[in-house]
Amino acid sequence: MCGIVGIINHQKISIKNDLLKSLKRLEYRGYDSVGYATIEGKVEKSVGEISNFLDEIKDSTTSCAISHTRWATHGGVTKINSHPHWDCNENIFTVHNGIIENYQELKKELIEKGHIFITDTDSEVISHFLEEELKSKNMVDAIKSFISQTQGTYAILVIEKGKNRIYAIKKDSPLVLGIGNDRLYLASDIYAFSDSTNKAIFFEDGEFAIIEPDTYSFYDSAGKALKKEIYEFTWSIPQEESVQNYPHYMIKEIHEQPIATQRLINSLDGEQHDKIKKIAELVKNSKRVVFTAAGSSYYASLLGVYFLNRIGINAHTLIASEFQNFMLVDKDTLFIAISQSGETMDVVTATKWAKERGAKIVSLVNVPHSTIQRMSDISLEIHAGPEICVAATKTFTNQVVSLLYLSWLLGFSVNMKTIPNKIDYVIKENEDLIKKMADELYEKKDIYIIGRGLSYPPSREMALKLKEISYIHAEGMMGGELKHGTIALIEPGTPVIALIPGKDFDMYSNAKEVEARGARVITIANMMDSDFKLDITINDGKFSILAVIIGQLLTYYIARKKKLPIDKPRNLAKSVTVK
Ligand code: GLU
Repeated sequence: MCGIVGIINHQKISIKNDLLKSLKRLEYRGYDSVGYATIEGKVEKSVGEISNFLDEIKDSTTSCAISHTRWATHGGVTKINSHPHWDCNENIFTVHNGIIENYQELKKELIEKGHIFITDTDSEVISHFLEEELKSKNMVDAIKSFISQTQGTYAILVIEKGKNRIYAIKKDSPLVLGIGNDRLYLASDIYAFSDSTNKAIFFEDGEFAIIEPDTYSFYDSAGKALKKEIYEFTWSIPQEESVQNYPHYMIKEIHEQPIATQRLINSLDGEQHDKIKKIAELVKNSKRVVFTAAGSSYYASLLGVYFLNRIGINAHTLIASEFQNFMLVDKDTLFIAISQSGETMDVVTATKWAKERGAKIVSLVNVPHSTIQRMSDISLEIHAGPEICVAATKTFTNQVVSLLYLSWLLGFSVNMKTIPNKIDYVIKENEDLIKKMADELYEKKDIYIIGRGLSYPPSREMALKLKEISYIHAEGMMGGELKHGTIALIEPGTPVIALIPGKDFDMYSNAKEVEARGARVITIANMMDSDFKLDITINDGKFSILAVIIGQLLTYYIARKKKLPIDKPRNLAKSVTVK
């Protein structure tokens, strides 16, 4: 997934205070290793996080440099495999986000021509390919051959030793040019520079650009010059970017949910009202609604399906990476893509596929001007603000609030106004109790979470949180499905969290069935009078949102007890821009 940043200027910039400061803002995209290269030919790399790298290196200055924070796809997490990579003559330095799918074939040809490769990555092929092409061509023609001869996905920055210039190339992976007062930025997303400028130009697929200190020129894949529009975006919410007095971003972001939901509701009542009304019209005029998403956003979409089906609207959802295998769309389909970053590669691919088949495209994104937003007929912004912890918390909740609002416009019965207060109350009421529950559960190897209907998507989202942040194997399941196999795994003391909304007697029976086999049943309920001691009672209504917030807190306190790297869990990255 990786984050890339390049900066170019007439004046010298600091590697630590300018380049790596921007790169750090993209660290949520991957944190396996970090590195940079300057046009003086200086390269430094290191395995691990940017903060350690900053402690290791001495600051220096340059007028032009590129940098990379990696989420490894090809080649282990080692210093040598870290980006930037270079050619045989150590003249061309490149950073890459994406996957060069035919790298083995290209590498073989280049080795036959005498090139020496030193890494196991797919990305190294880029510098050698350009070096070979430059023997007979200029850089523009070399880039044109690169675009025509490679398969795969890429956002690439290239510098040559001694030349104050960055070449930038894009296909499928995101890339944006930031126009600062005294410098130009090239980055994976606007967050790299949104603290210093709100002007940006977005690269489209197959485009490349040549960036010099105060000029830039864009080209299509055939080398034809392009006129590009400068966008002015609103995104940065400075007070939400710092961790404030909290020990981790995750708990700060959990606590921000009342503010974030209120901000979204205000916007849906205000400046986004026409947009959401148009989406409601599209829903009414379509034969059916089909959602796609990945991870937490998929569980939000499952709730969207539940809300719409309750009011008689034909709605489905499918995980984006399998969309083309299991779903059909046509021009009468309304396709709704959900992605926090708006760049999730699986969602981008499914969206392109649906668009080609004539479906109307609507999206819900957090990051404005993102690829998915730009591909959409109408795109809602969920206004969760920057979410720095890799695990989704406030963005999940705001996705659900958007879908509830849409369903409410279409006739679903819900009081939107009470959501922020209910969230505030559920956190205040339960946080201490949940800390105690975490003390009881933190050494468990497996946790099962069961739900039905409204509480089934929350069971999946809670399980995902427990897996990714507290490293406990967790399964979110349909209460009714448990007895068709998984119940064989229930032993005396196995924790089973039962999500019982309203007077759901079937859920109650499912909880009793596992209790009869010795499970330690933990109930999260709102109205049930039962012979269970209700572990957590949440106030009436908004069960789907409030139950997930209980799950977020439980995950956080378990991970804290286990002293885990909560904001940057192993092997993960937030914005998943590879397939
Ligand atoms: N494929 C490259 C590598 O493994 C880049 C990975 C990425 O963009 O996630 O180094």
